[in-house]
Amino acid sequence: MADSLSPATRRAFVMGAACSGLTLSGGFHQALAAVDPKAMMPSLQPGYQPLDKDERGLWMQIEQVEEDAKKSNFIIRDGALNTYLTDLCCKLAGDFCPDVRIYVFRTPYFNASMYPNGMMHIWSGLLLRTQNEAQLAAVLGHEIGHYLRQHSLKRWRDIRSKTAAYGFLSVPLLFVSGGIGALALQMAMLGSIFANNREDEREADGFGLQLMEKRGLAPDQASVIWQQLIEERNATAKAQGKKKAKAEPIFFATHPQSAERMIDLSVAAKAMQAIGKTYEDGKDRFSAAVGPLRGSFFDDQLKLEDFGGTDFLLQQLARDGWTGELLHYKGELYRQHGQEGDYAKAIAAYSEAITKTDVPAEAHRGLGYTLLKTGDKAAAQIAFKQYLELRPAAADRAMIEFNLQ
Ligand SMILES: [Zn+2]
Repeated sequence: MADSLSPATRRAFVMGAACSGLTLSGGFHQALAAVDPKAMMPSLQPGYQPLDKDERGLWMQIEQVEEDAKKSNFIIRDGALNTYLTDLCCKLAGDFCPDVRIYVFRTPYFNASMYPNGMMHIWSGLLLRTQNEAQLAAVLGHEIGHYLRQHSLKRWRDIRSKTAAYGFLSVPLLFVSGGIGALALQMAMLGSIFANNREDEREADGFGLQLMEKRGLAPDQASVIWQQLIEERNATAKAQGKKKAKAEPIFFATHPQSAERMIDLSVAAKAMQAIGKTYEDGKDRFSAAVGPLRGSFFDDQLKLEDFGGTDFLLQQLARDGWTGELLHYKGELYRQHGQEGDYAKAIAAYSEAITKTDVPAEAHRGLGYTLLKTGDKAAAQIAFKQYLELRPAAADRAMIEFNLQ
């Protein structure tokens, strides 16, 4: 079972990523040349191997990280999900398909990262936030773009000439032991070695759009998912009574965002679309692969105790309507928050959830506990009985029976 991050750990690893100073190294105020997504070309060939001794050394260290990743307890090994993500990456990477390998990690933050040897990490928090295949492809295509332009190798060469930061790579990662917090801290530090500058980001965005367009996935979904991430960060800050979020999303530590990026992206997406060609969002394929695991991703998200961000996320996911599962998690969120008026909102959400066919049995349990909090023991017992009827072998059966006495 994943443990949650303490606020101190969360601060520490975001600082770990940001304090390297690498994210600022591109020079935020310099003018950047426009990138034409259609004209983006890879800077390497399929089947690429490291060229010189330095690069071979870097690969050897990254290969050790990859070996450790394979054994990690945090890897999601669900066959259908892995097949789906591998196929999608393959579709996007085209001739480079055999060079890219994906590893899906169970950690609730929005993140994906690409390493110089073709290893790609995808975090479950990303899968929780994307709503269709086109949005997911926008992020994966962006990461593949970094690979095709060899950005991480370039950044590594840059900083290695300036600092001794590459010593980070000798730190063994806590892929097997340790909690999600410690793992995320180390992964963020590792990622910060390869932090991109804004010029790299534009190229990766350009490539992302190009790869989406080639596969018939709607390019305009790219700006939707990036914009949603920014708005979620703002919602987190607002609920904490702050103008600015305490910590930037991990993804932004290695992929700096800029105000003009969203405008560039949506303009470029329009220019990218061929007249008369139809594009799809691939929602059905995405839902079939990710849907069965979404509950477990939500359970992890709740452990972050990020009320504002999670509430915003639920509203985004419910844009096409509130399902039983989404209503259940709305109930869980408000029950956990437990401030004035929250229990009433939780009871309303659970009560609506249990009228839907896709509701998890746990909605009855959540309803029971919330009713207990409000002093309605008789109604709580009805809900608990319903939960046990649906889940006779529940792990918490003894606790529920205690509440039925
Ligand atoms: Zn990037």
